[in-house]
Amino acid sequence: MLLDKTFMPFDLPLMNLVERIKSGGFRAEAVMDAVYDQIDQYNSSLNVYRSLLPREIAVSRARQIDEKIASGKIVGKLAGIPVSIKDNICINDPELSNSCGSQILGEYHSPFHATVVEKLLQEHALIIGTTNMDEFAMGSSTENSSFGATSNPWDSGRVPGGSSGGGAVSVASGMALLALGSDTGGSIRQPASMCGVTGLKPTYGTVSRYGLVAYGSSLDQIGCLTQRASDCRYAFSIIHGHDSNESTSAKIELSLAPEVAELKGLRICLPDEYAAAESADPEVVASVNELAELLQNQGAVVERSSLKFLKYVIPTYYVLAFAEASSNLGRFDGIRYGVRKQEQPSLESLYATTRKKGFGEEVKRRIMLGTFVLSSGYYDQYYGRAVQVRAWMEQQVGQLFNEFDFILGPVSPFPAFKLGEKTDDPLAMYLADICSVLANLTRTPAISIPGRPTKSGLPVGLQLMGRRYEDHHLLATAAAVQELTEYHQLRPESIFTKKLEI
Ligand code: GLN
Repeated sequence: MLLDKTFMPFDLPLMNLVERIKSGGFRAEAVMDAVYDQIDQYNSSLNVYRSLLPREIAVSRARQIDEKIASGKIVGKLAGIPVSIKDNICINDPELSNSCGSQILGEYHSPFHATVVEKLLQEHALIIGTTNMDEFAMGSSTENSSFGATSNPWDSGRVPGGSSGGGAVSVASGMALLALGSDTGGSIRQPASMCGVTGLKPTYGTVSRYGLVAYGSSLDQIGCLTQRASDCRYAFSIIHGHDSNESTSAKIELSLAPEVAELKGLRICLPDEYAAAESADPEVVASVNELAELLQNQGAVVERSSLKFLKYVIPTYYVLAFAEASSNLGRFDGIRYGVRKQEQPSLESLYATTRKKGFGEEVKRRIMLGTFVLSSGYYDQYYGRAVQVRAWMEQQVGQLFNEFDFILGPVSPFPAFKLGEKTDDPLAMYLADICSVLANLTRTPAISIPGRPTKSGLPVGLQLMGRRYEDHHLLATAAAVQELTEYHQLRPESIFTKKLEI
């Protein structure tokens, strides 16, 4: 085969890699081998995969793709691409399981595929494993997983962000070329930002949630993590679309974007509140300002303005997310779902013991607080009010998008923090989501792209938020920005030592 000792499959945009595989230039088998070389070396120390295909099986599935191609059969748009999926996205594969990062599910085998999984498989993607996450996607650091924290490949003493920490690390360390995650309040974008990869949370309803284990159903959205925005664009074009199995799936045709986006003339809003946040790291602020300047130099108009409603995003998000979580997690009772545990011979003991033993501390806290805000004496005061505030924010953001094309800001106020630094302070952990939750509350698309890293070399993610159903524009613009900044090319050096022979 073609010998290029410096070639790594991660260096090529997904679309080009697939083209090469299809033309027989590269073998899917060799790509899979390269990915498993990374997995063999780093998976156990970084704690990325919750369930994983044995190497021989993954390689033999890749070989089957090569054989199909060699025999002239038509293969799909993701032929031979090793993909990881978050542990809360259902897959029906005898080799894989779903635990949602929780003891309560144990090694649950789904009897069906999530719609997104079906879509990937139709395009001949090779799903190799499910990735570690905060239990039921509740967290911002992947430390809430019942199966131990995932480490950041840029500094193994730091968190990878969360809750899709495993997915972000799988891409950042070359253990997958595409990862699917879920984002309820930032869980794709924030780990993408902390691991130096690109992460897209699409418009609510554009990618089917059928087969995603629900956390906050009015906020949850499946999206993707890749090396670059053009890869997210490619993956999004495959996974989006209406799904009759899912009642909140949008029937709307998304507005199309030009192949190459024009930055000149764009109107961009840069809220003052992000830089003014108490926890904002000056290096993160500097990174945002650098992008703002670059956009201005390209002919975009960047306007700083104050968005007063931003101070309400965290309380509003957490009241709604807890309320929805407390209702969604009712199904884990040891009867419908959940590994059954019982201390006394009574139904109550079965429920109580299953939940006491099965759920972690953060999940229990959220179920209790969510039940509280929904209880009859407090419903209007908390839940009802949060629903109203959310509607008001949607209106405000709608008006803003009459004036602007995008809202720019950081994804997280600070870069990856140390493992254990915030575990005893849930409030500090919740505040980490200050820049990301607005997109979920207003159901708008948002992307995290790598910006200038800190002086110590930690990745910094920058967020662009766009108009609802204009995901293609957002992706095209992010790709155009990346052509200029090139920060997405940076890799954690300790992880990419070996070159591949193909
Ligand atoms: N960190 C937020 C939370 O804990 C968001 C999580 C997510 O997007 N799934 O709820």
